[in-house]
Amino acid sequence: MSNIFHDPRVYVTPSQLPPEAEHWQRQEKAIGRIVFAKAIEKQSAHCLNCMDLGEVYLTVCTSGPYDGWPSGAKATYFPGSEQHGEGIYIVRETRTFLCPACQGKPGEELEVDLPASPHWTEW
Ligand SMILES: [Zn+2]
Repeated sequence: MSNIFHDPRVYVTPSQLPPEAEHWQRQEKAIGRIVFAKAIEKQSAHCLNCMDLGEVYLTVCTSGPYDGWPSGAKATYFPGSEQHGEGIYIVRETRTFLCPACQGKPGEELEVDLPASPHWTEW
């Protein structure tokens, strides 16, 4: 989908959220707010959940979608889903959480180096 709102970033939805993020999301949805989980897309990434950022974002919005960027309010572009339409949403708060898939260390599982001084060689 083309980004008609000129946000240079393309967002993807992380498939895994940490428990504290799930909890916050449920709380906010229960009082009628719109919650987006986001990571910023990259061409290639070791961790597909956070796109190697090591963290995922949860953005709580109070209203939207709108056709243009508001003045004097924090807002975010959302490309649309089954639940929420494409457009601009007014942001109440964004929090970052450690990525539960890679624990904030994307690509670590690909490292094959052994510890420099294993305990069993030190005597
Ligand atoms: Zn990750």
